[in-house]
Amino acid sequence: MSKKFLAFDIGGTKISHALIDENGTLLSESQKHATPQSTEEIFALLHSIIAEHEQEIEAVAIATAGEVSLKHDRIIASVGNMPAGYHDIDFQALTNKPVYVENDANAALWGEYCCGAARNKKHAMLVAIGTGVGIAFLIDGKMLKGKSGAAGEAHFSINRGHHRRCGCGAYDCYEIYASGTALGLDAKEAYQDANVDSHTIIQGIKQGDERAQKVFDHWQENVTSGIIGLVNIFDPEIVILFGSLTEFMDYDKIEKAVNQDITAEPIQLKRATLKNNAAIIGAALIAKDCLQAAN
Ligand SMILES: [Zn+2]
Repeated sequence: MSKKFLAFDIGGTKISHALIDENGTLLSESQKHATPQSTEEIFALLHSIIAEHEQEIEAVAIATAGEVSLKHDRIIASVGNMPAGYHDIDFQALTNKPVYVENDANAALWGEYCCGAARNKKHAMLVAIGTGVGIAFLIDGKMLKGKSGAAGEAHFSINRGHHRRCGCGAYDCYEIYASGTALGLDAKEAYQDANVDSHTIIQGIKQGDERAQKVFDHWQENVTSGIIGLVNIFDPEIVILFGSLTEFMDYDKIEKAVNQDITAEPIQLKRATLKNNAAIIGAALIAKDCLQAAN
């Protein structure tokens, strides 16, 4: 019988989870919860969901915001969008079953490489757009992890004519122009209203509101500008966009803009084929590989 994994995708705004088999197929619809305000509540939520499924699974697979160790066991840095103390959350204490953790962008790219848009493409890049931004690179069929596991953080500065403080403490990082948080800041500036956010813009563009579309298009140009630089450096075959906001992006327009400006051969630009499940599927497949390596 096929092995089952319980996979989570933990972000600053929501936590989703599903049961997934060893081929990356969802065995249940993925379910979403709002991310609790404290680390203790996040732990309690994960613990209660795991308790329901513990008997039927081989391991727990976690895709999370933040940088994750090379051993897939803990967070090592960059959890600015998560509650205080999340950095030190003890994932192994959630269950007696093995728990394997990976950064959400890395997990999403692995999912897309194994069963999505990057299948058979050994050079791929994924931009995960959520509360923050994470970037993942597949180089010659291997994930770029860096010396500690922290590669692919979106904290390099871009010049967009603003002066904005990023969650990491520095000014004008790519993340603070290309994240959902950034879209919210753009909305506040454009509407001169502290109460609007990224949801206002999404509601607006769904209703054909021109002002909202303009804010969204400007934000999309900021996302594009970072992609151009990264493509020049890493020369991937495909760039995949992942995260709930990517549903509303104009792929033809971004692909054209990127291919006009890069020095390398043209790239393909696509939304994650596995949509919002890319990270949980990738996390489950990483857990399967870790489990095999451990036995
Ligand atoms: Zn930053």
